[in-house]
Amino acid sequence: MKIVDMHVHCHEVDTGELRTLVEEGYVLVCVSDDYESSLRTLQLSDEIEVQPCIGLHPWEIGRQDYRSVVELVERNADTVKCLGEVGLDRQFVPETFDRQLDFFKQLLVLARDYGLVLNLHTPRAWREVYELLLRNDIERAYFHWYTGPLDLLEEIQEKGYYVGLNPAFKIQDKHRRVLEVADLERALTESDSPYEYKGLKLNPRLISETIDALASIRGTSRDYLESLFYRNYLRLFR
Ligand SMILES: [Zn+2]
Repeated sequence: MKIVDMHVHCHEVDTGELRTLVEEGYVLVCVSDDYESSLRTLQLSDEIEVQPCIGLHPWEIGRQDYRSVVELVERNADTVKCLGEVGLDRQFVPETFDRQLDFFKQLLVLARDYGLVLNLHTPRAWREVYELLLRNDIERAYFHWYTGPLDLLEEIQEKGYYVGLNPAFKIQDKHRRVLEVADLERALTESDSPYEYKGLKLNPRLISETIDALASIRGTSRDYLESLFYRNYLRLFR
């Protein structure tokens, strides 16, 4: 069994629990929030078999000098395969949008030059991020917990980018719609653990519920979906 968690803040999860999850067959793609947590994620990836992503979360951009993160990415671009959690956010932190954009554009150049996967945060900036990916010839990107418009979802997936399916579908109708219509060949499961969304404590183990719901909504089997998402993960990180 392989269960892919394409977006988990491992630096905030107990290391013993991470180890257990990996032993049970979970594929953990660990995103970072800032400079310090990026270092922690890199250290974790030396100790446990997880896929590290380094970066600076749009929510943290007002609090940190992002040049240190750009330098960290430059220093590690040969070995690390993924940048995250990065992106643009017009919904929760519109006041720092100009800084977000400046930082994100620098990352896009690095992502293109080194062929890195982008693990993206995009609330109310879905189309801007999508157009920036196209303009910068980005090949590999993942829209974490996609809640944007469904017509854009189709465009994103047609271009070969991936979208994230999160256990929040249980209480968030617009995300449940995404589970109903997304092209599963260009989708991946995630937890965004340990974030708590409206009382729902997100956890990698909830991904099973996403897979069960999908199997029922889309009239397919759990086994098929597990192997499909694992294949999608391998293709994205080829
Ligand atoms: Zn996150």
